[in-house]
Amino acid sequence: MLLQRPICKHCNKNHTAINYIRNGVTHYRSTCDECGRKKNKLKPRQPSWQKSGYKKKATCDLCGFHSKYPSQLTVFHIDGKLEHIELSNLRTICLNCVEIVKKTEVTWKRGDLIVD
Ligand SMILES: [Zn+2]
Ligand SMILES: [Zn+2]
Repeated sequence: MLLQRPICKHCNKNHTAINYIRNGVTHYRSTCDECGRKKNKLKPRQPSWQKSGYKKKATCDLCGFHSKYPSQLTVFHIDGKLEHIELSNLRTICLNCVEIVKKTEVTWKRGDLIVD
């Protein structure tokens, strides 16, 4: 017997994508291939430190360097644990200071970068 293939819940247009087939029964996803792909693509990759509400500063916490572009500064987790996103664990560091930090501060670890 043939099961009716459902229509995508997202676009209400295409048939849903096949999820898997088990014991001759086809299981479908709730969305079509197209919407499934779009969803994956749109999924924002948010750095962990951004979830804490931390905003990368325009000046370096170490030397006071004032950046012209955000890419000149990077966020560090000073205890080296990327999952520790308390504001007290985060520092905005310029690329010059990154070099110094890498040599002097053993625990500091660069946080996830923002994808522009
Ligand atoms: Zn769809
Ligand atoms: Zn600096």
